[in-house]
Amino acid sequence: MTRIVLTADRALFTDFNGVSALGFGLCVPYRLIPDFIEYRVLAPSIGVDHDYRARIAPYPLAKIESSLHIAGFKREDVLITPPRYLSKVVDKDTVILGIHVLDPQGLAPVSWTLSVLLGGGKPCTQYEFEKLMKEVLRLKSKYRFKVIVGGPGAWQLRGKEDHFGIDVLFEGEGELTFPLIAKRIIEGKDVPRRIHGEQVPPEAIPPIITPSRNGTIEITRGCPRRCRFCSPTMRYFRSIPLETILREIKVNLERGVKHIGFSTEDIMLYGANGLHFRHEAIARLFSSALRIAKKHGVNSIGFSHVTLSSALAMKKTVKFITEINGYSERNPAFPQVGLESGSPRIVREYFGGKPYPWRPDDWPSVVIEGAKLLNEHYWYPCLTYLIGYPDARPDDYVKTTELLERLKEERFIGWVFPLLLIPMGGTMIEKKARFKKLYDLSDEAIECIVTGWEMSLDFARTIYPRLLMDVKNVLARKIIFGLINKALSSIGFWIDALRKNRELIIEKISHVNIRTPVRLIKTIVKTTIIPNITMKK
Ligand code: SF4
Repeated sequence: MTRIVLTADRALFTDFNGVSALGFGLCVPYRLIPDFIEYRVLAPSIGVDHDYRARIAPYPLAKIESSLHIAGFKREDVLITPPRYLSKVVDKDTVILGIHVLDPQGLAPVSWTLSVLLGGGKPCTQYEFEKLMKEVLRLKSKYRFKVIVGGPGAWQLRGKEDHFGIDVLFEGEGELTFPLIAKRIIEGKDVPRRIHGEQVPPEAIPPIITPSRNGTIEITRGCPRRCRFCSPTMRYFRSIPLETILREIKVNLERGVKHIGFSTEDIMLYGANGLHFRHEAIARLFSSALRIAKKHGVNSIGFSHVTLSSALAMKKTVKFITEINGYSERNPAFPQVGLESGSPRIVREYFGGKPYPWRPDDWPSVVIEGAKLLNEHYWYPCLTYLIGYPDARPDDYVKTTELLERLKEERFIGWVFPLLLIPMGGTMIEKKARFKKLYDLSDEAIECIVTGWEMSLDFARTIYPRLLMDVKNVLARKIIFGLINKALSSIGFWIDALRKNRELIIEKISHVNIRTPVRLIKTIVKTTIIPNITMKK
């Protein structure tokens, strides 16, 4: 008797084995991920109750569920379920199937970059979405429900609605508009095929009632810095009320979730008025959240992103968060941080608001000083920067490489990842940028990519033994160490080959397929591919 079923594909409907960063592994072409690694390690399935209701859900689905409840739908009307149980849940009473998407066609920055660098092919994200939609089409032809697809990746499906059997492609925010659309469909009224959901005032964003995957809790929405390649900045900036956040923490912890992570574009923005930051708001957020968390044995609260200029402007807050969370060398934070480019010309043109309260020309110094500040407080960030700005010149890449070299000299601790800029739907740059391939890039751009990868490789070598010290079983630890060492040396060979002969490496890797155990064994037996390529040089 469930009228609305909510789901997502397997690459999203998982807890990534409790480590959200493993989700990036699903951005790799699926031919390079053995299926047992995908389904056992990267994307294990989620448990369900006796009625196939998911015990935890991707956060956006949990939000839509609670907004439907607020709009008057009863609990039995709405059910979130993982994709594997769809055929058990969908029946003649189902009127709407809502599907959350993040990267349904493999066009998000990480997937696109890895596909280009690894010789092409569908990433697991796309593979899983298309697999789900085959099942959806089969069920739809039997039960005739309406399919609504929405989420940050909906732009990738524009023009593909008929192919995938999508009745409504939903972009924008869901809490106010989705229930209205659902009611119209249930009443048998027509709805547009494309909908842009209205932005929701913070007090109208309802707290979740189903625990969220890995304890994710949204604390801000939007960003006031207006970078031209960014989609969150196209929404107006809001901080979620503290009482909503605390309720969501309780929902998670009382149902057994053992981790809380704040989702935000910049932790320093919480409670800010535009770009006027407020230490007190952040201090209150962490203090009250930890007061609840500690009662459930959770002693620190993670967060997803920080901006280097905000951190520099809020040194006291960086110190406060480190102290209250007990960060140390053994227990560091790994926030995501946008470095974007080391060229002041590119900063001025594409992300002039990011250095504020400093000027665009100050950005390289902000990066160096900001990174030092974070490291001093045991924040080991994942710095990302963009390759492929529409009018980037070789000297722009040289400046970024020089900035990376300066970070190295300063003994920066953290990851450094290059990403190809993409014309993401709904951004200011959408019409100007285009998807780039490896042969579109200059030697300077390749050097810039390789420099970042080398730094990440060095960091991986130093950090993983520290992180794996907690693996208690000595034999398991030895095996994991061995596997990681092997993987890291392969990546080292690959980076070297990329610098020396990018066409050859891409050509060779594009033929590798280790998806099944048989293919994996054949590949291992035949050759260790990357060293061979390098030796043939
Ligand atoms: S600072 Fe980050 S979130 Fe804000 S607009 Fe720039 S890229 Fe987007």
